[in-house]
Amino acid sequence: MRVVIVGAGIGGISSALLLKKRGFEVVVVEKNDTPGGRARYFQQGEFKFDMGPSWYLMPEVFQDFFSSLGEEGHPVIKVEPKVRIDQGKLGEKGESITFYKDERGEELQRYLEDTKFMYELSKKFIRKEMTVLDFLDRDILSNVSRFPIFETLDRFNSRYFKEEIMMKSMGFSSVFLGGSPYKIPAIYAMINYSIFAQGVYYPEGGFEGYVKRLYNLARRMGVEFKFNSPVNKVKVEDKKVVAVYSGEERIEGDVFLFNMDYHYADNLLPEPTVEWSERKLAPSSILAFLGVKGEVNLPHHTVIVNGDWRDHFSSIEERRLPSIENMSYYVSYRRATDDKLMGQDLVILIPVAPGLRKESSLVDAALKDLTVKSESKFEVKYMRTYGPEDFSQDYNAYLGTSFGLAHTLDQTGPFRMPMRNKRFRNLFYVGQYTQPGIGVPMVTLSAMIVSKKISESF
Ligand SMILES: Cc1cc2nc3c(=O)[nH]c(=O)nc-3n(C[C@H](O)[C@H](O)[C@H](O)COP(=O)(O)OP(=O)(O)OC[C@H]3O[C@@H](n4cnc5c(N)ncnc54)[C@H](O)[C@@H]3O)c2cc1C
Repeated sequence: MRVVIVGAGIGGISSALLLKKRGFEVVVVEKNDTPGGRARYFQQGEFKFDMGPSWYLMPEVFQDFFSSLGEEGHPVIKVEPKVRIDQGKLGEKGESITFYKDERGEELQRYLEDTKFMYELSKKFIRKEMTVLDFLDRDILSNVSRFPIFETLDRFNSRYFKEEIMMKSMGFSSVFLGGSPYKIPAIYAMINYSIFAQGVYYPEGGFEGYVKRLYNLARRMGVEFKFNSPVNKVKVEDKKVVAVYSGEERIEGDVFLFNMDYHYADNLLPEPTVEWSERKLAPSSILAFLGVKGEVNLPHHTVIVNGDWRDHFSSIEERRLPSIENMSYYVSYRRATDDKLMGQDLVILIPVAPGLRKESSLVDAALKDLTVKSESKFEVKYMRTYGPEDFSQDYNAYLGTSFGLAHTLDQTGPFRMPMRNKRFRNLFYVGQYTQPGIGVPMVTLSAMIVSKKISESF
C-alpha cells in the first residue's frame, strides 16, 4: 500500500515516519528544496536562522512520538529564564518582568494549579479527532467552570491577575494560536500551564536540528523524498484520488495525505471541501532575521508590548498594519541558550493581518525600540525581512497566513478542518489547519492521529 504525502512540513515528515513504521510504502513530495516547511532554517555566513518556531513546548508529546517509533526522544535544553515581557511606550524604557525557574507569586501559583486541570483534561481530547459529541463528555460537563469553553482567555485571566503586565504575560501566547486573548477560548490557558509550569525547552540544534533528526530518520527507514516538486494537479476518478502531478510528473498512490496548505489543496480538487469565506485565518507576520555583533542584553524569548495592544489586535481583524506606536512584537535570541551557535542571530516577529505586505518602517521602529528597551549595543551585519507575500510564495499559504486557521471557539476541536475528505475517501489531511491545531506539538499530534486513522482504514 503506497501513501503519497504532499508537503514535507513537520506534519508531513512526522506522518511519513509513523506510516512507514506501520508498514506502508511512503513517498513525500515537497515544493521547496529542503524539508521542514515553516520550520525550515537558512544560513548566511556565520548566521543561522530558524525561520519559524522557537518555543519547544509540551515535551511529553515529542517523547510519545519518538517512543511510538521505538526511538530515543530528541535531546532538549531547558530555557532559563522562560520569557521576559516588556510594556511601555515605543522608543522608551518601560516596565519589565522576567520569569525565572520556579519563582511564582501567589496569583501565578493559583493560576497554574487551575490551568493544570485544563491541561490534564485536554489530553483526553487532543490525541484523537474530536467530534461534536465529545463536548458532552462527562468530565467536561461536570467541570464547566474549571474547563471554560465559552469564556475568553482574557476574561478567565482577569479572575487571577490585576496587574496589566501579568495580563499581558498570560495573554501573549494567544498570538501563537492565531488569535487574541479577547477571542480565543479560555481552555487555551493550558498553553500557559505548559510555558510557566512545565517550562520552555529548546531542541538540540534548534528547530533545524529537530527537522534534520526527523528527515534523517525517515531516509534511514526508507521514506522516499521528492524535493522541488510542487504539486499543481490532483487526478480523481470514481470517488478516489488516483494521482497527483508536479508539472508533467505523475505520482500515483493508494492513499493520499495532504500536508500542503489546506486552502491551496482544496482548490486543486473538483470542488472545495470548505466554505473559505466563513473561515477566520490566523495572522501572518513580518519577520526580520538579523545577524548582529556586539552586546545583546536579551534572554532567549522576549515579548514587547507598546502602547495599546488591543489596537494591535484590532489592526489584525481590520486587515490594516498596526500603528507604529501601538506595535507589539516578539524577539528570539537563541544564542542566550545555545552557545554552540557561531553567530548572534536575532529574529523579530511582528504579527500582522494576512493579505498585507511587509513594511520596513515597522521593522526599523522595532529594532530601535529593542535596543533602547534592552540597553543593548550591537551592529546589524545582516538583515533579511520576510512577510505575508513570502509565506504565500514559499508555502502556498492562503493570503500569506503564518499559522493557518485561528483557534476561535467555532474553529476548535471538531470545528477545525476534517482530517479525511468526505467525498474522496482515500484523501487525508495533516497539519496546523486540522485538529488539534497550530504549533509543532499540535501538528505532531495531528500526524499521530491521522496515521492511526489511515492504518485502521487501509
Ligand atoms: C514565524 C513562525 C513562528 C512560529 N513559532 C512557533 C513556536 O515557537 N512553537 C511552535 O510550536 N510553533 C510555532 N509556529 C507554528 C509551527 O511552526 C507550525 O504550526 C508548523 O510548523 C506547521 O507545520 P505543518 O506541517 O502543518 O505545515 P507547513 O510547515 O506549512 O508544511 C507544509 C509543507 O507543504 C509544502 N507545500 C505547500 N504547497 C505544496 C505543493 N503544492 N506541493 C508540494 N508541497 C507543498 C510547503 O512547502 C511545506 O513544506 C510558528 C510558525 C511560524 C510561521
